[in-house]
Amino acid sequence: MQIISGKELSDKLKGEMATEVATFENRFKRLPKLVVILAGNDAGSVSYVTGKAKACEQVGILNETIRYSETILETELLQKIAELNADSAVDGVLVQLPLPKHINTQKIISAIDQSKDVDGFHPLNTAALWNKTECVLPCTPKGIIKLLKSENIEIKGKKAVVLGRSNIVGLPVSKLLLDENATVTIAHSRTENLAQVAQDADILIVAIGKAKFVTADMVKKGAVVIDVGVNRDERTGKLCGDVDFDAVAPKTSYITKVPGGVGPMTICCLMENTVECFLRHENAKI
Ligand code: NAP
Repeated sequence: MQIISGKELSDKLKGEMATEVATFENRFKRLPKLVVILAGNDAGSVSYVTGKAKACEQVGILNETIRYSETILETELLQKIAELNADSAVDGVLVQLPLPKHINTQKIISAIDQSKDVDGFHPLNTAALWNKTECVLPCTPKGIIKLLKSENIEIKGKKAVVLGRSNIVGLPVSKLLLDENATVTIAHSRTENLAQVAQDADILIVAIGKAKFVTADMVKKGAVVIDVGVNRDERTGKLCGDVDFDAVAPKTSYITKVPGGVGPMTICCLMENTVECFLRHENAKI
């Protein structure tokens, strides 16, 4: 069994990006800029936004975090996004989710200029992903494929099972695995015999948001297991994934840990997407 470290891979990739970004001031007379909008004080969101700002610093991307109260009006948010869309110094606009309940999330995401949608959640980017045309890929699914490839794990022809069908993880990662020629099964809360479905997987991607849900009996010997979940263990209060790591790891060939697995890769891919958007804005080669 081998642990795939997203922390190590992301540190390496961010280091390489920093070297490239360091040449931009000379080449383009400006640096990439990411603006993150945070509405409210949700502890998880505040911590994610802090992590994104820190990564920007490491890579040399300019970062601004705009904080609003929980009561911000949808119209105010839309106006700020319009302003950022029009600002040629801004390459990426990210609205931290979840938004307060009175705000229509889809309307906000759709208002971001497609060329600045560093999260890859804009409907036009989603359409491009499913049409297999050039687009900004959503960060977590992109990071998962990078994790697999970093260990030269064969995806082609393998049975991949994705637990979860959300728009931000389950569905897009299923499409990326399909594009890599895996045979993909998507399972969800209405799937019958879920354990049996999961057991069939050569590659098991788990993104359901239930602490330690995947137990050893649900995993085939030698499978590759990627744990996307971020949960609090009720007993210890510590962060944990959707996979019962201690029980499952010995059965696997490769597995990721929480924390230190998919999470750092998500942020790393956000940095990569910001650099890609910058280069497109500069009409430079990606
Ligand atoms: P989500 O939108 O809540 O979707 C959860 C999915 O899991 C749904 O498709 C749901 O099925 C399915 N599900 C829930 N309970 C299930 C069960 N008992 N059996 C089978 N399927 C079940 O969650 P998400 O946004 O995809 O996030 C999933 C997890 O990943 C969360 O813990 C989140 O914090 C984490 N996450 C981590 C990162 C990272 O960078 N590390 C990024 C994004 C998300 P239905 O569709 O049938 O309801």
